[in-house]
Amino acid sequence: MLKVAVIGAGLMGHGIAEVFSLKGNEIFLYDSYPNALKKGLDSILWSLNKLKEKGKIQDVNEIFSRIKPVQDLNLISEADLVIEAVPENFDIKSNVFREISKIVREDAIIATNTSSLPVSELAKSVKNPSRFLGLHFFNPPVLMKLVEVTKGDETSIDVFNRGVEIVKEIDKIPIPVRKDVLGFVVNRILFRIFTSACRLLKEYSVEEIDSLAKYVLEFPMGVFELLDYTGIDTNYLISNEVRKRGFDFTCDKLSELYQKGLYGTKVGKGFYDWSKGRPEIKRTERMPKPEDLLRDAVKEAYWLVNNGVSTEDEVNVATKLGLGWKKGIFDYAKEFSVKV
Ligand code: NAD
Repeated sequence: MLKVAVIGAGLMGHGIAEVFSLKGNEIFLYDSYPNALKKGLDSILWSLNKLKEKGKIQDVNEIFSRIKPVQDLNLISEADLVIEAVPENFDIKSNVFREISKIVREDAIIATNTSSLPVSELAKSVKNPSRFLGLHFFNPPVLMKLVEVTKGDETSIDVFNRGVEIVKEIDKIPIPVRKDVLGFVVNRILFRIFTSACRLLKEYSVEEIDSLAKYVLEFPMGVFELLDYTGIDTNYLISNEVRKRGFDFTCDKLSELYQKGLYGTKVGKGFYDWSKGRPEIKRTERMPKPEDLLRDAVKEAYWLVNNGVSTEDEVNVATKLGLGWKKGIFDYAKEFSVKV
């Protein structure tokens, strides 16, 4: 069993701590804000009680007692594995890695849960970057099976392979990302879907495009519904960051909503009006062709395979499980004869 330190007890950190504890590992959960640490622990307890109600675990206290809240970072010195889940900000993360490097053993593995920052750039703040890699969990970590395991330019092959093994040990499905590409596999493909959907707004309405996504492709949410749900502000900021690094994620309407403060679900309005709850998306007669929404995503999927980032099977599974789609991207490509 491992001693795992999780840094940041927010949405992702507390869930990651719970996942490792469920599998018998010993956890140090650290947050620089005492209230956030308390909230994270309360959320873990709530979730464990839910698992018990469903008959999935028996002893909540045994699992919970393996998680030690720490407010002094020096107390993580015995960790075999450190997973960072602090906000998506390069400077905050870099500072955390510099601090951790001073405290843990030289051979302790250090991982980032970043969604959109390059692992190899973050590695520059880690002492001995060969033991640094990406472990990208999905939200919520307890329920989502997928973890993208990313090899940075300097990650040793042993550490990368060990990362894949650790993900299997906690009963998750690893997607090896063998080259450090921005957005890894799942988000790169999702950004292509977002950009295509935005481009289609020149000819179709938000509802017509989401009708295709929901009723023909059977995505769990419409594309614009998902942008609202995950936050117009968050997506706008991510689109700027990835564009700065050369990845084309463009959406004029997203910028327009951002400038107007229409951030989506959290403020009650974005592409949709959320003031009365989840919008009802009806099946429309008119809608784009499936291949027009999927083509760039399929091209991206081939690019990932052809560049040795992940295999065809891995990309297919990653899109299915990471995005909650009914099928993987290559299954859709076949079904709708998407030519690239
Ligand atoms: P969050 O804001 O919910 O949690 C971040 C936590 O870090 C907070 O509790 C905060 O108090 C704490 N924190 C801030 N500065 C700190 C510091 N210097 N040291 C220690 N703790 C500090 O954020 P989140 O949604 O959990 O995201 C965390 C990371 O996970 C980000 O990199 C994000 O991109 C990634 N991620 C998020 C999601 C998602 O759906 N939210 C999914 C996958 C990956």
